[in-house]
Amino acid sequence: MIIIDEMYCKGCGICIHFCPKKLLKASEEVNSRGYYAPYIVNGVECSNCQQCVLYCPDFAIFIVEDEEGGDG
Ligand code: SF4
Ligand code: SF4
Repeated sequence: MIIIDEMYCKGCGICIHFCPKKLLKASEEVNSRGYYAPYIVNGVECSNCQQCVLYCPDFAIFIVEDEEGGDG
């Protein structure tokens, strides 16, 4: 499961650019800090490659294991 922490995300779009499956999209509305934070679409397609995590300059995106093995 992809988690994007709006407290750290500055909407730079780097994660969107580097996701090899193009699963991240920029939000159409600004968040509480005035940035267009990304969100994940079709999360079941995520391969957990961690490219988004590795390239985020602000440590705003991370992956948590789905303990129930769902489609998170
Ligand atoms: S872990 Fe990989 S496939 Fe999943 S959202 Fe991040 S970059 Fe995309
Ligand atoms: S790379 Fe990090 S700071 Fe930039 S849009 Fe993605 S989550 Fe936000």
